[in-house]
Order: sequence, then C-alpha cells, then structure tokens
Amino acid sequence: MRRRKRVNRYLFYVFLCLLLSVSGLVRVFAEEGKNDEKTLVVGVPADRCPIFYLDGEMKEPVGIGVDLMREAAAAAGYEASFRVIEEETLKKALDKENYDVLMPFGSAIFSASGQPSIVTDNLMQTPFTFVTQEGSSLPPMEELRVGMLSSLGGGIETLRQLYPKIEILEFESMEACVNALRKGEVDALLHNSYVWSYVLQKPAYQNLRVQPLTAFSMDFRAGTLDTPKGRSVVKRLNEGIASISDTRRQAIILDYTSRKLYRYDFFDFIYQYTLPLVLGILLFNALIIIGVQRMRSIRKEQERKLRQMMDYDPMTGILNINGFRKRVEELLRAHQDYPYILSYSNIRDFKYINDSLGRNSGDQLLRFWARKTQEALTDEEVVGRVTGDRLVLLRHLRGEEQFYLDRKKVIEPVENFFTARGKENRIQISSGLYVLTPEDYKNIDVDRMLDMARVAEERARENRSGNYEVYNSEQWEKGKRVADVINDLPKAIRKGEIEVWYQPQVNYATGEITGAEALCRWNHGRLGLLQPGSFIPTLEEAGLIYDLDSYVWERVCQDLKRWKEQGHKRFVSVNVSRGDIREDRDIPGQFRGLIEKYGLSEDQLRVEITETAYAESPKLLISETERLRGFGFQVEMDDFGSGFSSLHMLKEVPVDRIKLDLYFLTASGDPEKGRIIVSCVIQMVQMLGLELIAEGVENAGQAEFLCSRGSQDMQGYFFYRPMPVRDYEEVLAARESKIPDRQ
Ligand code: C2E
Ligand code: MG
Ligand code: MG
Repeated sequence: MRRRKRVNRYLFYVFLCLLLSVSGLVRVFAEEGKNDEKTLVVGVPADRCPIFYLDGEMKEPVGIGVDLMREAAAAAGYEASFRVIEEETLKKALDKENYDVLMPFGSAIFSASGQPSIVTDNLMQTPFTFVTQEGSSLPPMEELRVGMLSSLGGGIETLRQLYPKIEILEFESMEACVNALRKGEVDALLHNSYVWSYVLQKPAYQNLRVQPLTAFSMDFRAGTLDTPKGRSVVKRLNEGIASISDTRRQAIILDYTSRKLYRYDFFDFIYQYTLPLVLGILLFNALIIIGVQRMRSIRKEQERKLRQMMDYDPMTGILNINGFRKRVEELLRAHQDYPYILSYSNIRDFKYINDSLGRNSGDQLLRFWARKTQEALTDEEVVGRVTGDRLVLLRHLRGEEQFYLDRKKVIEPVENFFTARGKENRIQISSGLYVLTPEDYKNIDVDRMLDMARVAEERARENRSGNYEVYNSEQWEKGKRVADVINDLPKAIRKGEIEVWYQPQVNYATGEITGAEALCRWNHGRLGLLQPGSFIPTLEEAGLIYDLDSYVWERVCQDLKRWKEQGHKRFVSVNVSRGDIREDRDIPGQFRGLIEKYGLSEDQLRVEITETAYAESPKLLISETERLRGFGFQVEMDDFGSGFSSLHMLKEVPVDRIKLDLYFLTASGDPEKGRIIVSCVIQMVQMLGLELIAEGVENAGQAEFLCSRGSQDMQGYFFYRPMPVRDYEEVLAARESKIPDRQ
C-alpha cells in the first residue's frame, strides 16, 4: 500500500514535470508564434535624400529605401518601423540590438566587433554617376581624380576594385566635395544618381552637370548579423522582396526622384534671389529717399507759406518789417563789398489823403508806390513796408545819376499819382538816408540803421523845402564819389578821358633823359582833370584798377612803337598795382604779348611795383617778379622807404632797381638824420648790386646831395613835372637836337 502510494506520488511528479515542460514549450511556441508577427525594426540613415531622409513634419524616416522596404516587409507579414541609425557606421550599428535589420547594404560585411552579417536579396540597383563642372568633360578613366563622400564606404570600395587607377579623394561633406571640384583638385564627383537628383537642386550647384556615364551600379539590400534569428528574418524578407514587381519599384523611385525635395536654407535663398533682393533693397531705399524728400519739400512749402504770412505785408505784397530785416541781414552778409544805403520814406500828410479821398485811395497809392519801387530794384536790393505809409529800402549806392533816375522813375510818378488821375492832391515823399559804414557790415543791426534813417527822415519832414536828408552826409558824399568813379570808368576809357602823362627821368651827372614814368590822368567830362590820388585807390578797392592799367600799358606801348618808327628807342616805367596781380591773371604773359604786338624789346618797358604791395602778398608778387625778369623785363621796387618793412623787402624781393622815395625819407623829422638815412640806403643798395633811382627830387640841394652819394638817376619836380605826351615829345625833341638818344 505504501509502495503504491510512493508510485502514485512518483507518477504525480512526472505528470507535473510533463505538464510544466508542455506549458513551457507551449509558451516557447506561443512566443515564437508571437515573434513571427512582430514589427520589424529597420535602422536607416537619414542623410541620403531621396533614399533615406526625415519627413519634415513627422520627423520620421522616409524615402525610396523606406518605401521599398516597407512594401517588402508588409509582403513578408511584418509591420516595418524605421529608426534612424545613431551609430557612426553600419558596422557599429550591427553590434547593437536596437535594430532587427539595417540598411543599406551592398553585400555582407563584418560588424565592428568582427561578427559576420547576412543580407537580403537586392531591393533595387543604384547607379553611381559622375558630376562635373558645367562645360568640362571627363578625362580618361586612368587619369581621373574623383571626389567622394567618405561615408560612402561601400561605394568607394567598389570603385577601387573596378577602376584601380582612379585617384579617389574622400571628403566629409558635399560642400567640401563641390569646393574641391571648383578648385580643380578633382575632375569629377561620384555619388548615386538618386542622391544627385536631390543635391543638384541646390541653387549654388546649378552649374554642376551629371555626366551620361554610370561608373557602376550597387546593390541595395538590408542586412543583419548572421544568427538563427537573422537568417529567419532575411528568409522572410526575401519572400517579400521577391513579391515587389519591377514596375512598382520604378514607380517608387520615380516618385521620389521627380519631387522637389530640396529645402532652401538661408544661404540658398540669398544665392537664388540675389538680384531681386538687391533690386528690392534699392527700391526700398529709393522709396524711403523719395518719401523723405517729399516730406521735406512739403515741410519747406509749409515753412515758405508760414514765412510768407509772417514776413510779407498782405496789402502791398512786399516784405513787412520782419521780412525786410531778415533780407537785409542776408544781403549784407553776402555782399560785404557793396556800398549800400538804407532809406526810410514817408508820405507827408497821408492821414489827410485817407480822410479826404478815402482809405481805398490811400491803399491804392501805397500799392502803386510799393510796386514802382520793387520794379526799380535788383535782386541785391530790397524794399519793405514798416507800418502805414512808411517804406524802407536797402539800395545799392550807384552815384548821382542813379539818384536822379530813382526820383524820375519812382518818386515823381508816386508824387503825381492823384494828379495823373485828375485829382488835385499832389503827394510829397520825404526820405531819410543812412549810408552804411564798414562797421555796419561787421555788426549787422538793421534796427539801429533804420533808426538813423528815420531820424534823417524827420529832419527832412521838418525842413519842408527838401525831400531828403542824409544822416551821415560825409559818407554820403564819399559814397557818391566812389560810385561815380566806378560807374564812369568804362565810359571814360572808351571816350579817351584817361590820358597817359610822362614824367622824365634824368641822369643828373650827364643831364641826359634816360626814360620816363607813365602816370595817368583822368580828364573827367564834368569834374575836370583828376589826379590819380582821387580815383586810383577807389578803383583798387572796387577791383577795377586792372581795367585802367591794361589801358595805360597799351597806350604806352603804342607811344613806344610810334617813337621807334621815328627812329628812337625809348624807355618807360609803368605802374603795376597790387590789384593787377592775381593767381588767375598772367601779367608777365600779358607784357610779353604787348612787346610782341608792338615790335618792342623787353628792356623798353620797366615795371614798377610798390614796396607795400610786396609786403601784402609777398609769395605771389615774388613769383610774378621772377617770371617778369625771366622774360627780360626790368622790375623796380616803387616808393622804397614808404613801407614799414623796406629793409626786409630788400632781402626778399628779386628786383633790378630800387626807386627811392625822397618824400617819405625826408618830409618830416630832423633833415640831418634824413640825409644820413638816405646816404646809408644808397650805400646799402649799391652794395647789394642793385640799381637805384631817386624820385620826388624837388630842389638842387637834394639832387647835389644824391649825386655826391653816387646816385645819379633822378625823377622829380626839380627836373620835370608829369606832362602830356605831346609836351614830353617836345622836351625830348629839344634835347635830342643837343644830346643823342640812347639806342
Ligand atoms: P608813383 O608811382 O610813386 O608816382 C610818382 C608820383 O610822385 C606821381 O604822382 C608824381 O607826379 C609825383 N611826383 C613826381 N615828382 C615829384 C616831386 O618832386 N614832388 C612830389 N611831391 N611829387 C612828385 P601822381 O602822378 O599823382 O601819381 C600818384 C600815384 O598814383 C603814383 O605814385 C602811382 O602809385 C599811382 N599811379 C599813377 N598813375 C598810375 C597808373 O597808371 N596805374 C597805377 N596803378 N597807379 C598809378
Ligand atoms: Mg610809380
Ligand atoms: Mg613812386
């Protein structure tokens, strides 16, 4: 019984063991059955567009390889799930258990740890094609240098085996490959043509061309470690691969290679749209500039309108006191050298006109007055209305004539405004004038000037006989004189009122006339014979001296020519003013032209330049002196002793002759000291090797003294006064009958 019990227990244990093993087996089979249906994890790269790349939105691997594998897996009963390979190489990935299969394989390889792999059947053929720069062709295979991505390990291997002579250079990126091609380091690049269809969409690679030559085709397979499980997966996948028709395969390839998959990055965008971008920026800038300018012009226009309102008198249309003040300031700043007067005018008893003829008539009169005045003005002059019947005027002072013209053209028509319209009321205008002084141009104070003109106007009004008064009559006279000289000069030259007189120069020892100085005189139609002192400084100030001097030089040359034709070679000194010599004027050239024109020789014309002129602008005058002497003219330093820097000038200026002005050295002070100075100057000039002539010799004592000091050449009233040319010719004729002329 006990034995039976033991047998039963033994049987129970056996049964239990059997049960356990069966359930274990069932579990194993059930596991295996489950394994058969499980999803297939496929490891793929993500940087091989269009074969493998990440979908933009889902961030899942997609591409030709993915689609092909998905179809093969599905046909084999798998649901493929694709995962991006994280390992650096396929070999390393093989050793990881993260993936059931990996792609892409050309053939079986060993894993990084040396385990063999097994691959599926071929999913497709990938052709490898060459790309070159546009316009260049492929050299023969044995000379070819090819650039390839180093990640294409299998491709590089295959190329090496097929074409051992080809030089292969490996690069880390496509950009490095293209750079090498552009620099000529390689002749072509090699990659699979599906990848090219994507890469060449990049705008910067537009000038790369695919060559119609396939180097080789590579198989495209999946692979895994050679294990029982691996073999089982590969077996099943091969069945799936076999079920994909060629047409289907082509459709998948075409789908991806014909799509525009390339996504522009920032630099592509810049590259592609450089021209439109530049044009856009230019257009944008132009629009901004136009906008700003438009705003500016609108603002200016508004300012102008505002100024119009603020600065103009609405009744007469001329400036009001505000506008007048501003304009006067502008004009005085711009024309510091213009002689201006400022007038303040008033209609006498204007109130009576308004009362008797009506306000409207008064307004008409004021408008007429303003218009007439405006018409008489130039752009450098201005009129304004202060208040009521008061007009103010800044006028260029042009001398007596202009003054009378103004009366005729403006004042008289205004004064006769009502009588000319059949009414009895004769108008009287009283004016106060203020002549601007140099100080007024420096510190411009329009109100102060107007005050002075107004004071003068009040005086004119009190003194009922006169119609104008001048505040500063001395300036007024001077200003008028200056204006007269300036206005009359061109006419005077034309009418021959400018005469050339000669003052002979003599050699005291021999009594011989050695030459003459040409001095001008103005035989003024109205004012009689004018001495140079009364108009030359004015002309110099007004910048008109050159007009006069050019005329004098020409007349002198005409006289010299006439004398030459009469058989006499004569010598004349002409004055050159500091105002004649300017950077833009070629005075030496002008003298040479005159010599040529009149057939004279250079030594006949001597050039006098005053010492003070040299002191004022030494650089230019010294260079012009050098040029004159270079041409053969003798240059004399006039009025030596009149300036403050005479001795300094002697050292600096390269002249031929010194013209010693006795007047300046002897006119005042102790005569004995004067004599000492003169004799020392003579000695010094002689020691410097210069010639000397003394001018202003008025008596025999001076002449004797100069002679005793070795200076024989003289000019002065003691010998001759300046005289008209006919008189000079007579003097010469009388002497030449006794002493022969220098020839
Ligand atoms: P300057 O060139 O020194 O001429 C000499 C001046 O002294 C002349 O005066 C002459 O008449 C005067 N004179 C001559 N001998 C005596 C004398 O013994 N005693 C006195 N007290 N004076 C004497 P003028 O003709 O009145 O000329 C004055 C200045 O005007 C000249 O001085 C010269 O600088 C200038 N000038 C004259 N004519 C011209 C000209 O055509 N062009 C230029 N730029 N200046 C000229
Ligand atoms: Mg002179
Ligand atoms: Mg002189």
